[in-house]
Amino acid sequence: MAEIGIPQRPLRVAVVGSGPSGFFAAESLLKSLVVCAVDMFERLPVPFGLVRGGVAPDHPKIRSASRVFEKTAEHERFRFFGNVTVGRDITVEELRRFYDAVLLAYGAEGDRSMNVPGESLPESHAATEFVGWYNAHPDYRDRVFDLSCETAVIVGMGNVAMDVARMLAAPVDILKDTDIADYALDALAESRIREIHIVARRGPAQAKFTLPELKEMAEIPGATPLVESDEFTFTLACRQEIEASPGLKRIVEVLEEYSRNRPGNGRNIRFRFFLSPVAVLGKDRVEAMCFERTRLAGEPGNLKAWGTGALVDIPCGLVFRSVGYRGRPIPGVPFNEKTATIPHTAGRVEDNGREIPGLYVAGWIKRGPTGVIGTNKPDSLETVKTLLSDLERLTPCAEPDSQAVENLLRERGVRVVSFDDWKRIDAEEIARGARKGKPRERFSRVEDMLAVLDS
Ligand code: FAD
Ligand code: NAP
Repeated sequence: MAEIGIPQRPLRVAVVGSGPSGFFAAESLLKSLVVCAVDMFERLPVPFGLVRGGVAPDHPKIRSASRVFEKTAEHERFRFFGNVTVGRDITVEELRRFYDAVLLAYGAEGDRSMNVPGESLPESHAATEFVGWYNAHPDYRDRVFDLSCETAVIVGMGNVAMDVARMLAAPVDILKDTDIADYALDALAESRIREIHIVARRGPAQAKFTLPELKEMAEIPGATPLVESDEFTFTLACRQEIEASPGLKRIVEVLEEYSRNRPGNGRNIRFRFFLSPVAVLGKDRVEAMCFERTRLAGEPGNLKAWGTGALVDIPCGLVFRSVGYRGRPIPGVPFNEKTATIPHTAGRVEDNGREIPGLYVAGWIKRGPTGVIGTNKPDSLETVKTLLSDLERLTPCAEPDSQAVENLLRERGVRVVSFDDWKRIDAEEIARGARKGKPRERFSRVEDMLAVLDS
């Protein structure tokens, strides 16, 4: 067998997806003693996954995580294949013809549903859509949200729900200095929303957001965070959970401060607890959201919400379900429908418990849609470690030709976007932003991104 992983014949790895997990994996491969060449495939002409398309515009410092990834992209054995959808423009099976290993890091782009009647009524949306819309993601560019109502309900109490609430509550004077999409800023400037309910099915001690995001709510000019005092309750098991975690204790203290606030004249952000979704109500569009009051039972650390039979309606004109993202299958790759992830052991993909050397997985599509950017680093490192430990048993690919894949895509009429091409799009976005006094004005249509390259 030909030796691979040496300067004369680097280990050829295709990484699918250019979010944090893809870039952390690429970085680790390129720093390894085994000589690797990494080609990264990304379905959009622009890189960085949720760092670009998810992180909120008013969090510029977090968005700048992409600078670390740019360093990786400068490596001489790294190539970027943007505007290439794996599974459509090229299959995973075909990639395996050109690469010794394929590492899938394509995230979890779908959304979970609440599975309640009325969920598909007009003005009932997934948070995913709203987030993609204000971040100029081409998939969501043409979504329309009716912001003319007074009350919006956000179901779920994780950090995505906090992002959505902040974007609804923040004055446009603050948002206008960010890289929010221009059409979203215009729509939010006309917003009449005054009441924002963030609704959890469990209690204050089980909220999924993190402390900085909670504290930020008190810093939004004109907005008042509120907690209904009769929903600010704790069972003995809750108190044990709080005692066991100083971080949680601090969260509960901040919520307690909010419970002492009185509604303000501006926008009110209402943290609601012990309410499980029952139905989205309305004739032709959302008119209210019906919840069942819950109580908690179970062991500390594993408290579950149980319905009490008491129903609570919250009249509203807009519903965002923020109950989690969901992975999608890719043709030819095993997929666990229940967890919506790719089955694996330590990152090596498995089909019904049978290992598939040469096929690996990292990030949200490996472990599910949880964790911050940094969480993906150890996750990707685990996968790369497994991949490199398989070196001896990998079947070298049939066509280790770095030009062949490019030729195949060109024959198929795919306009491949290189990292230098992305830099041109990037420079143009920054220039467009500078003209408006913003850090950047993003392109929200693929054709406009590609037009920059053809100009
Ligand atoms: P992703 O970032 O989703 O990257 C996957 C990439 O694969 C995407 O670029 C996608 O276009 C591409 N892709 C998908 N399908 C294909 C295909 N078939 N072919 C080719 N490419 C494909 N973490 C923080 O630390 N701070 C924050 O402020 C923060 N804000 C967040 C806000 C939101 C709304 C969300 C949802 C998450 C946020 N996170 C934040 C979490 C963080 O973004 C994730 O942990 C991280 O992005 C997951 O990385 P990933 O690489 O697995 O997936
Ligand atoms: P998440 O943290 O898992 O929160 C999901 C929320 O939805 C939870 O409150 C959950 O309640 C609720 N939920 C789930 N199913 C439900 C149902 N059927 N009915 C009612 N409620 C339901 O997910 P996320 O907010 O999408 O965030 C994903 C990841 O990205 C997280 O790790 C998050 O920290 C990260 N992120 C980070 C930032 C940041 O750092 N600023 C910003 C955004 C996202 P239960 O707990 O009761 O299940």
